[in-house]
Amino acid sequence: MSTATQLIHSIPVDPLTGAISVPIYQTSTFVQEAPGVNKGYDYARTGNPTRAILEQLIAQLEKGSTGIAFASGLAAIDAIVKLLKTGDEILAVDDIYGGAFRLFTNVYDKFGIKVTFVDTSDVEAVFNAVTPNTKLIWLETPTNPTLKISDIEAIAKIAKANNSLLCVDNTFASPVLQQPIPLGADIVIHSATKYLGGHSDLIAGLVVTKDKEIGDKIKYIQNACGAILAPFDSWLAIRGIETLHLRIKQHCTSALTIAEYLEQHPAVDKVFYPGLKTHPNHDIAKKQSKGFGGIISFSLKNDTEAAAIEFVTNTGLFKLAESLGGIKSLVSHPANMTHKSIPAEKRRAAGVKDSLIRLSIGLEDAEDLINDLDNTFEKIKQQTAKKETAELSAC
Ligand SMILES: *Cc1c(COP(=O)(O)O)cnc(C)c1O
Repeated sequence: MSTATQLIHSIPVDPLTGAISVPIYQTSTFVQEAPGVNKGYDYARTGNPTRAILEQLIAQLEKGSTGIAFASGLAAIDAIVKLLKTGDEILAVDDIYGGAFRLFTNVYDKFGIKVTFVDTSDVEAVFNAVTPNTKLIWLETPTNPTLKISDIEAIAKIAKANNSLLCVDNTFASPVLQQPIPLGADIVIHSATKYLGGHSDLIAGLVVTKDKEIGDKIKYIQNACGAILAPFDSWLAIRGIETLHLRIKQHCTSALTIAEYLEQHPAVDKVFYPGLKTHPNHDIAKKQSKGFGGIISFSLKNDTEAAAIEFVTNTGLFKLAESLGGIKSLVSHPANMTHKSIPAEKRRAAGVKDSLIRLSIGLEDAEDLINDLDNTFEKIKQQTAKKETAELSAC
């Protein structure tokens, strides 16, 4: 059976009523026959049947043992950091999601957890950067927003030899394209806010562990700290995942077409898309994933913040917004939006230029999206020409 068929039929029909859609158990507590005697649930922070189906579903999709659902992607990341103790170190990808950077550096530094950033697309750099105190290696692949790819299998070997856990933030790829656990990762996390939810109507985070033992530890943290995903939001995430295969396929096809269009455009300096042969990590992307995803970044020949802002405020179909992975295409300016919490020098060193623009390719027709980008480039060209004429006549 294909994975798509398996996925759709692994979401159970309700045994009580035959409801084909998963029921939303909107309840805080469960009646017990005698103290401690119950039907598997006692209090809805600890466990909820709707959430449990989502947790089983993501564990199955990522080929892990345990799934754990949180109120946001960051709550999921936070739960993993809580496996560590004072003196432990995190080795993280340099081109990291801004919120994860903020959490690691501004919240956990005062608890004595040190974080080092390294270009993880360079396996040797990872090998050289681990220390005996590195207890967690943190990858995002592809990264946000420069779409660097790290070799999960090779870094898993380094992690294992060093007794470190390897966690992969698989938000950008989704389990349809890439499964880090079979490649050797211990933990996978998702911002289900993005592709898994898929409709820009949900904030959610998911964790999957390879081993049950680590899964149980994170489940303990989920209950002890309480950042659980609500029943209705769990249902939204399940509903999103039901169409994940189909959506990802379309995101990938359209993104490649648009990346090729951008690559030949005279106003574009550089296009970042792992599906392009010119991408420095194209080979490893091809080896470890089934497709290249729906995110494209590009910089402009006119490498100024002003030029990027002019572009992102003049698109039509592409809506200017944070986030990604939904049905509507989005455009963003990472330096001023998602990556604002990263200091400018650090951001530039990680390859996020001032003019870098990120696109999340939605499910509109690719041709319409290309026309929209084309119109935007044309509009900017005319505005620039007009400005230059005005400046000349002012002289
Ligand atoms: C959005 C995002 C997160 C954070 O998830 P939230 O659901 O917004 O808390 C983490 N990692 C990546 C790669 C993201 O894109």
